Amino acid sequence: MKNFRLIMMSLLFSSCLSGQVSKLDFVLVIHGGAGAIKQSEMSPENEALYRAGLQEALDAGATILAGGGQAEDAVEATIRLMEDNPMFNAGRGAVLTNRGTAELDASFMSGKSNKAGSVAGVKTVRHPISAARRVMDSSVHVMFAGEGADQFAAEKGLEIVENSFFYTETRLQQLRALLNPEENENTEPLLKKHGTVGCVALDKSGNLAAGTSTGGMMNKRYGRVGDAPIIGAGTYANNRTCAVSCTGHGEYFIRNVIAYDVSALMEYGQKTLQEAADYVIHHKLSQSGGTGGLIALDREGNIAMPFNTDGMFRAFIKSNGETGIEIYGNPTDGK
Ligand code: ASP
Repeated sequence: MKNFRLIMMSLLFSSCLSGQVSKLDFVLVIHGGAGAIKQSEMSPENEALYRAGLQEALDAGATILAGGGQAEDAVEATIRLMEDNPMFNAGRGAVLTNRGTAELDASFMSGKSNKAGSVAGVKTVRHPISAARRVMDSSVHVMFAGEGADQFAAEKGLEIVENSFFYTETRLQQLRALLNPEENENTEPLLKKHGTVGCVALDKSGNLAAGTSTGGMMNKRYGRVGDAPIIGAGTYANNRTCAVSCTGHGEYFIRNVIAYDVSALMEYGQKTLQEAADYVIHHKLSQSGGTGGLIALDREGNIAMPFNTDGMFRAFIKSNGETGIEIYGNPTDGK
């Protein structure tokens, strides 16, 4: 973090010295899920924890990009931190299935190579995003599910844990509340929250990458797979257009092929990133009855973060020093 601050200060300093508006060398955008996230129902302590988690993830990814690292490395490092943070619905602290187990989904895509990798329903991989990256980088396939996905990750030397590693008291309480609603009148807002994590990045070489990781939806039927591991639905990256990571009610994101649709509107419909992202969330998704949001980034460093829910945990940082963390409000672009 200290290291990162130094890098950012020197970037700002050199652009001031040259008297130029600094060129956008890199950009990193993250989300920590969208849903019924209302300020009136958020304690200051929890808000501080969410903000700290987003800041830590942002710093990790931006440090890699500022040092000339690849977008893929920044996305992976950023999401790994969020998977380890129990505030978010990914990795440890993921929501649980109706059997009380954690079944995790993740995907990765490189805008440069158009290669992609994903895992669905993994139960023992500490960092599903790294498993998705390994599928992309070192397999001839794009997607592994269930036991075969866990085994693939183990063979690649990724850290393997017991399924109980992912459980937290909060998630167990939320599941109990859902299974016995009459005993838990006050838990409704929590249950409506999503919390998937995602990251899109633009590196100094002008390449884009995207990744998404989630536990899915609380009380999902075991075996259910959401949009997060489906390339084109929850994640998409293409250097010709943009990098996208989604969060929300996965079934709607799959049916509407949300992430790819943003790219397609840019490529075939000549829409700007903001126009494409807004259209997909506020028209297509909303009209089909779906809820959620997305983060999107193009090669010029433009960012769009639309959502149609009360809030979406979201943050960005640019090499020119612009940065921000937002949770509530302004659903049109989230900036
Ligand atoms: N999209 C995820 C799913 O449906 C959930 C989320 O984003 O919170 O599995």
